[in-house]
Amino acid sequence: MLPVIKLGKCEGDGICIDVCSDDVFRIEILKPEQIERLTLKEKIKSYVHGHKKAVVINPKNCCGCGLCEVKCPHQAISMV
Ligand code: SF4
Ligand code: SF4
Repeated sequence: MLPVIKLGKCEGDGICIDVCSDDVFRIEILKPEQIERLTLKEKIKSYVHGHKKAVVINPKNCCGCGLCEVKCPHQAISMV
């Protein structure tokens, strides 16, 4: 099982980075083509947060504990 970030829901607050001890995530700024794919509501929310989103950079480090999914306050992470 690996975490998948729903970009439309992520608010870039970095909580997943704080709870994951395995250095799986990083915060990045969305590229214009990624912003374009969001709904209007998601675009507005994303703009408010400077288009910051969590991305999975080290999937091999993930032990599949699921803590990030539980702790994300915006239900932006799914373990698949
Ligand atoms: S995935 Fe959740 S916890 Fe991580 S930055 Fe996005 S909103 Fe915050
Ligand atoms: S499932 Fe556990 S190890 Fe994997 S990214 Fe989430 S908190 Fe980190």
